[in-house]
Amino acid sequence: MVISRSRLRSANLKLRLACVAAALVFAATLLVTLSTLSVAERGMKSVIGDQQYTMLAGAASFMDDRIGARMAQIEALGAGIPPALRTDWKNLPAFLAGQVRLWGADEYLNLVVFDSEGDMKLSLRELPGPTSLNARGTDYFDRALEERRSVISRPMRSRLTGNHIVVFSTPVKDESGAVVAVLTGSVDLRRSGFLRQIGALKPGKSGYLFIMTAEGVVIDHPDQSRLFEHVSSTPGSNYGTDRALAGFEGWLEARSKDGTESIYAYKRLRTTGWILAARYPQREAFAPMAAMRHNAFFSAGGLALAAGLLAWVLVFRLLAPLQELRDNVAAIRHDGAEIEVLRDGRRDEIGELGRAFHALMAERERAESGRAASEKRLRLIADNLPVLISYMDREHRFQFGNATYEKWFGVTPEQLEGMPVSSLLGDGIAAEVFPHLEQAFAGHSVTHEIRIPVRGDPRILQATYIPDLQPDGSVAGVYSLVHDMTHVKEVEEQLQQLARIDTLTGIANRRMFGESLHHALDRARRSGRPLALAYLDIDHFKRINDTHGHGVGDEVLKEFARRLTVGVRATDTPARLSGDEFVVILEEIGGRVEAERIAAKIVEAMRTPFRTSAGLVQASTSVGVALSMPTQNQEQLLAAADSGLYAAKGKGRNGYAFFEV
Ligand code: GH3
Ligand code: MG
Repeated sequence: MVISRSRLRSANLKLRLACVAAALVFAATLLVTLSTLSVAERGMKSVIGDQQYTMLAGAASFMDDRIGARMAQIEALGAGIPPALRTDWKNLPAFLAGQVRLWGADEYLNLVVFDSEGDMKLSLRELPGPTSLNARGTDYFDRALEERRSVISRPMRSRLTGNHIVVFSTPVKDESGAVVAVLTGSVDLRRSGFLRQIGALKPGKSGYLFIMTAEGVVIDHPDQSRLFEHVSSTPGSNYGTDRALAGFEGWLEARSKDGTESIYAYKRLRTTGWILAARYPQREAFAPMAAMRHNAFFSAGGLALAAGLLAWVLVFRLLAPLQELRDNVAAIRHDGAEIEVLRDGRRDEIGELGRAFHALMAERERAESGRAASEKRLRLIADNLPVLISYMDREHRFQFGNATYEKWFGVTPEQLEGMPVSSLLGDGIAAEVFPHLEQAFAGHSVTHEIRIPVRGDPRILQATYIPDLQPDGSVAGVYSLVHDMTHVKEVEEQLQQLARIDTLTGIANRRMFGESLHHALDRARRSGRPLALAYLDIDHFKRINDTHGHGVGDEVLKEFARRLTVGVRATDTPARLSGDEFVVILEEIGGRVEAERIAAKIVEAMRTPFRTSAGLVQASTSVGVALSMPTQNQEQLLAAADSGLYAAKGKGRNGYAFFEV
């Protein structure tokens, strides 16, 4: 599963590389082609523009020639009228008709002559409507009369045909040079030939030529509805036409009113100032370019596909060693294969990667085995220490425990893992332990003692908890170290005891006597019944030592203590203060009489010879007795008894003396 997923990922890498190669080839091909096309387009545009303009210039020159010829023709006709016929309105028509017949039938639509007042005097064709007509106010009449030369009119609508015409007019002068009439010839723009011929020059299929006057009135246009309208009468504006009206000649790119980008060329007619214009929509002009662009997309796509496939094959071949390396790593991870396979790779980057992997894995193996050995050592030490070592998580569950747990509680380290503390110790003991554990979880090291039955034996354990502090200050868990302190405690108690007992005689020593007297005095004060203190010293003890030796002296001391113990009540406390000095605390004494009675009894008890290793030894004791008083302290009472002893010694020994304050 893991391998197949990684295979998929590597396939993705190959696919990605192939796609990147394909995308690069696609982009590069497209970029080169499109930039080349764009350069070519620019070149082509100027070629087309120049061509259009040249064509227009030719057409304009042709039209100028035709207009000039017509003008010359009508001028010649006017000049050629015999003087007699110039104002002979009856015979002039016949003359004119004769002349016109010599020319082609289509040359003029009609010939009309006006007198100098502008009244129409003859018309070669019959005009519809009113027969009288005055030409004053028309540009062709007024200008011919005024300028005394031939002129051409603005385009206008023919009364005869309703077609668009221009009128050529020439002044007819008499011998004195005065203008006596104006001869006009109307020419049908459509039928006359010069427009028809230039119509054949239209660029492409969708391109066309149009003519307008210098003022912008449309003379010729494929859209008949626009004829005689001003160019600006259709909504919107055409930058090219606006410039042409302002005097521009040449070609330019502009957006037409219908929104199509076109190449426009403009040329003015020399004779009339009319503007001859050509429009060539770019869509058609650059149709081959668009086809080439379209083709470029397909060829780029084809190239990219081929490059992608090639890249796929190449990448597959180039990455094969990488695939092998990955298989080897997977085999090492999952099948436990030897890492040596990673070493003998090829002498290239992939081989180096394999060797780097090998070095890394070898290092890891070494570290792993070192760690395992160290862990084993630590485990061995932990398992063989007679202490409980464990680690608890925040939920109070054991995460680790040494083998001592098995020895003490019969729970193996494996069983202990995950076991709650309360399950191991029972709820009662756990409740005792938890407050300490909580302190450890709060980040403090804690040590406490607890009594727990271990395998049925009551034990005193000392537990130390050390918090496992994390770098962020939180506590992840708690290390626990538990010692069995039972034996130590016993020894301690014994030592405590020993420190309060006289080692030679086995009765209380001075220390224990001090404590006992303190408590006894308290009790006496509370009960109101005094105690008596008897202070004893063996008489001439030095002599016994000197005579029989120190050992015998010791034997006497022991026997002395024994007799003292059996001679008083169990509640009374005999003690050895030092050397041959002893004391007895006699509690709840009725009074001096009773105290003296006990003192006498003690003296008596010591008179019996002492059985020693050196035979019977005679000894005696002197006793000082004092009764406690409520205001007295310990030292004062002892001093009083000591004074009694001093008195007893003074009286000759082997007796007692009561010390009265
Ligand atoms: P007195 O009647 O005035 O008390 O005379 P005495 O010889 O008993 O004199 P004292 O009480 O001053 O001497 C006590 C002697 O006890 C001195 C010392 O050598 C001896 N002694 C002290 N401690 C020990 C002991 O532990 N064992 C033995 N054998 N002798 C001890
Ligand atoms: Mg003595």
